[in-house]
Amino acid sequence: MNKFKIFLFTTISIVYYSVAFSQNDKLVAEPSQNVKSVKINDAFWTPKLELWSKTTAYDVFNKFEGKYEPQGEDLIEDKEELGRTRDAFLNFDAVAEGKRGTRIHDGPPWYDGLIYESIRGVADLLAQFPDPVMESRIDGYIDRIAAAQASDPDGYIDTYTQLVEPEHRFGQNGGNLRWQHDIYNAGMLFEAGVHYYNATGKTKLLEVAVRFANYICKIAGPAPKQNIVPAHSGPEEGAMKLYWVFKENPELKNKIGVPVNEKNYYDLAKFWIEAKGHSDGYPPQLIGCDHSASDGDHTDKNLTRLNFGAYSQDSIPFFEQTTIEGHAVRATLFATGATSIALENHDPRYVKSVSSLWDNMAGRRMFITGGVGAIAHDEKFGEDYYLPNDAYLETCAAVGAGFFSQRMNELLGAGEYIDQLERVLYNSLLTGVSLSGDMYTYQNPLVADSHHRWNWHSCPCCPPMFLKMVSSVPNFIYESKSNEIAVNLFIDSEANIELENKTKVHLEQSTKYPLDGNISIKVTPDSESNFSIKLRIPGWARNVENPFCLYQSKIDSEVVIKVNGEPIKVEVFEGYVTIKRKWKKDDVVDLMLPVQPRYVYANKNVKDLGGLVAIAAGPLVYTLEGNFNAELADLKIDTNKAMSMVYMPNLLDGVSVIKGTAKVGSKEVEFRAIPYYAVGNIKPGDSYKVWIPYLR
Ligand SMILES: [Zn+2]
Repeated sequence: MNKFKIFLFTTISIVYYSVAFSQNDKLVAEPSQNVKSVKINDAFWTPKLELWSKTTAYDVFNKFEGKYEPQGEDLIEDKEELGRTRDAFLNFDAVAEGKRGTRIHDGPPWYDGLIYESIRGVADLLAQFPDPVMESRIDGYIDRIAAAQASDPDGYIDTYTQLVEPEHRFGQNGGNLRWQHDIYNAGMLFEAGVHYYNATGKTKLLEVAVRFANYICKIAGPAPKQNIVPAHSGPEEGAMKLYWVFKENPELKNKIGVPVNEKNYYDLAKFWIEAKGHSDGYPPQLIGCDHSASDGDHTDKNLTRLNFGAYSQDSIPFFEQTTIEGHAVRATLFATGATSIALENHDPRYVKSVSSLWDNMAGRRMFITGGVGAIAHDEKFGEDYYLPNDAYLETCAAVGAGFFSQRMNELLGAGEYIDQLERVLYNSLLTGVSLSGDMYTYQNPLVADSHHRWNWHSCPCCPPMFLKMVSSVPNFIYESKSNEIAVNLFIDSEANIELENKTKVHLEQSTKYPLDGNISIKVTPDSESNFSIKLRIPGWARNVENPFCLYQSKIDSEVVIKVNGEPIKVEVFEGYVTIKRKWKKDDVVDLMLPVQPRYVYANKNVKDLGGLVAIAAGPLVYTLEGNFNAELADLKIDTNKAMSMVYMPNLLDGVSVIKGTAKVGSKEVEFRAIPYYAVGNIKPGDSYKVWIPYLR
């Protein structure tokens, strides 16, 4: 999928110029999800992206190298029980040296995948913030990964399986793929190869990915091949990216030292989706997972694979799935991969299935912060309307939900999908890292007596997923199809877009969003031309807090849109106002969204949220922390009183604080709320609440 064609303006900075060219000065066609065609210079996002580039990226790799102090008993026990080396990259070195079955392996079986995910995320950051030191560090990692692969004649690489149980490749011969993660790790390698190529023009990691993908394509697929599917989703999307990068850059095949037939990668992704639910029982040893007897078909003897259960979206076939179930990270990444396939094949069965899954997620199972996965046991989705305050809400699951929503917008075009992506970005995702950039969360509940971020974790899956999503943000801002440009996110940025009618359009978006709702977009086509600019009007700005009424809010102010200073009628269709006209140089569109405090209520079907209210302003959900609200436990908000919002530049790197009126018993008090993403940064161990009782 071409995000959109880009071209170069001579006025664009040298950084912009250089990244659009490969090392040999040949214009690289832009594959999907390429962050290079948009440049951000945003008051909210740019300082954060710089911090994540300068601090978080280094921190994550340092900690994978074991440069941290273990916190908690789990890490210390791991070290003894799993023969931990405290340096995940030594896993690759041991494999490269030909070691097999030593039972010395650092970290859980999915550590390879987490490293590949980190490389992908940091690659996208490098595309925005070139950093030769980091690039050369990753090149060093890639050399070690490639050396590990070179030690296997098939191009197979999975350091856990190779070092701990080499006889169980892909969970075969009595192994357990759900534990081993061979396919998951492979899929993350595919993505890393593609993203690192897009960022740097370097093909070494992509070649490693292709070699492994070719091996998997040889053995996995419909009969007579083996029925091997991911027990942890993500690889479906990875295989699609591998397919797209070669489909859109046929000349790239000549730079890869192994044969490439990209159609095989598409077929593999499709097989991985459609083979779910077609199995014949359970693995012999399940580890910590729910596998009740009703959870799958044990009777069909024509099937050749063990069942990973609803936990892995494997209890019923994909086309029969109507609700989003199981492990929330797996479920959202599974749906994301299926949506990517739908983008390619437009198969109505795919469109129907992914629409059902998304509607169920966004309409009945998504928390106000964009978090998903209510239940700690199996880290899974709960029933419809089960949205308790102390829910689990893993950072990774929010990321999966965000990627799913973004792909749904690409597929079906409605703004409601971006509304939910935006909900994730500004809330459940952003809270996953500290303002210092080196402390993280795994769970993001909506209430806590004592909030703590950690240094590192025995399963540090969330920091890599965090990096993957935040580094993709530039790519989410604009979307172009035929002769339309959609402005999806309100982030100060420049973009160059070539339309189907060959018009080249330069966009300059200026805004302080989400601090205020004023957005100005200068439109510069290379010649006068008829096309459409679509402005997303977020649901919260027009009293549609959630498209299925899962949440409700009301704002009295109107959305205002002006073209060259003249107001136009605001007619919203599928979440957008479309402005179709003959555009000329320096036309300006102004959009004013009512970013002001609002009260949000949950649907009455959500039993856990009866009598409670949340506070939001624009895309930001707010929270009350103990430090500003001494009597938080007993506080009831007076929703009849108006709230005020004041920008405090020196608090939490600059946030707007919302003040309002509450009662503690009969005493009237002022409450102060801060954005949820910033929770736990003033006083570690502090209490907080998103949903608060209100006076009735
Ligand atoms: Zn995680």
